[in-house]
Amino acid sequence: MPASTVCPPPAPTSSVPLLQGWRNGFAALGPAFFTELAPTPLPAPHWVGPSAEVAALLGLPADWQKRGDALEVFAGNALPAGSRPLASVYSGHQFGVWAGQLGDGRAILLGETASGQEVQLKGCGRTPYSRMGDGRAVLRSSIREFLCSEAMAALGIPTTRALCITGSPQPVQREELETAAVVTRVAPSFIRFGHFEHFAARGQHAELRQLADYVIARYYPDCRGQASAYAALLRAVSERTAHLMAQWQAVGFCHGVMNTDNMSILGLTIDYGPFQFLDAFDPGHICNHSDTQGRYAYDRQPGVAYWNLLCLARALLPLIEDVEQAQAALDSFEPVFVDAFMQRLRAKLGLREARPGDEALVDGLQRLLSAGRVDYPIFWRRLSHAVAANAFEPVRDLFADRAGLDAWLLQYKELLALDYRAQSADLMLKTNPCYVLRNHLAEEAIGAAKLGDFSKIQTLQGLLASPFEERAGHEAYADFPPDWASHITISCSS
Ligand code: AMP
Ligand code: MG
Repeated sequence: MPASTVCPPPAPTSSVPLLQGWRNGFAALGPAFFTELAPTPLPAPHWVGPSAEVAALLGLPADWQKRGDALEVFAGNALPAGSRPLASVYSGHQFGVWAGQLGDGRAILLGETASGQEVQLKGCGRTPYSRMGDGRAVLRSSIREFLCSEAMAALGIPTTRALCITGSPQPVQREELETAAVVTRVAPSFIRFGHFEHFAARGQHAELRQLADYVIARYYPDCRGQASAYAALLRAVSERTAHLMAQWQAVGFCHGVMNTDNMSILGLTIDYGPFQFLDAFDPGHICNHSDTQGRYAYDRQPGVAYWNLLCLARALLPLIEDVEQAQAALDSFEPVFVDAFMQRLRAKLGLREARPGDEALVDGLQRLLSAGRVDYPIFWRRLSHAVAANAFEPVRDLFADRAGLDAWLLQYKELLALDYRAQSADLMLKTNPCYVLRNHLAEEAIGAAKLGDFSKIQTLQGLLASPFEERAGHEAYADFPPDWASHITISCSS
């Protein structure tokens, strides 16, 4: 089915100069890549939350939210003049199995603005790729995506961004009846591994090449000068993905649905669903209730990323042509991951350079944290303060195995002594966040929002925007999770 024949392109419904200078590079790829269609209007929209930082990124005017057209545009009820809304087609492997054609089933790309950022509305109605879905997103999952996108950005972790959420009284059926919302997502590109798999699987090699050339020209220009630009692209994506995995593992982030259609070609965290930041450190933790086999457990993420890169390599093979070159490009993943992960961990430990014994130190720590199911963010924050004050009792209090911890601390202090302590503490306090978006914090904000109170979203957003800065009066946000947190179940349903 040619993707473009399903719906005719809509005429812009109003001349809205809110976002200007649309370039629409993706739309220029042509009809094999998408279907042009307008969002489905969202009834009686209201604001739920904006991100001032993303508004600035897009170059929106300071009063953008107050303008009558903004709410209509970001609810999908009016089109900015110059945008060319479309839903893109991709395929992918879901839970290790080829799923065939997928695509933007509920997201519509408005286009790319002069800022170089693409703007996408998620949850704005059915598209030709919706399959059995209703094209909507619920308020609950939209709040999780909005808060986490911005929290990740503040932690320095590559991610798609979120400009705002608009809510609506429109009912949406999930496990229970919920209400609809639209998240405006922003990124330089929303292209996924699955876009490449789509054309490779169909033997559409001309489109495959066109897509690769577009991605190289726009996002990986350095690859052009290489002997094989396509092998260079695969290497660059492998390396970016390795860096991303190092950051996820270091901060304790579990994505939950690392299907190849949820892997960004730019190495961004994308498609926030049943994600979770670790509370207690459990390497085999499974955050997605629907992941019965634990395919996407915390400690499997780097391995799964590599498996996903293998799928991308297979898709790019008609362009690379040489299996050995493709393998060599993939081979960069592991050393880059190990190196980047150790760099992150050394920073978390306040160790300013690589020294013999630091890998054993990290291994030993992971064993202790795991054996004691020690709270991951609190451990790191307490360790940072302990180094600053040279007083380790609050850290010892977290462990039942005191002897084990003391032996580790002895080893640690030996390495630490090679650095200047005040500088180490400073590095640690800027590396180990005080505030992370734990599941129970998101749940509390969602619960209030469902009752029409969006202030908890704002408070949380404010804390997560400066996650290393302790704020008086907000100690509860940095505390252990309550007992009920362990009973929260987050599934793929969103
Ligand atoms: P996900 O696992 O959320 O990344 O989604 C997998 C596929 O299902 C993608 O092609 C989505 O666009 C599509 N999808 C998920 N939820 C819906 C929905 N409510 N309506 C339409 N399509 C959906
Ligand atoms: Mg997805």
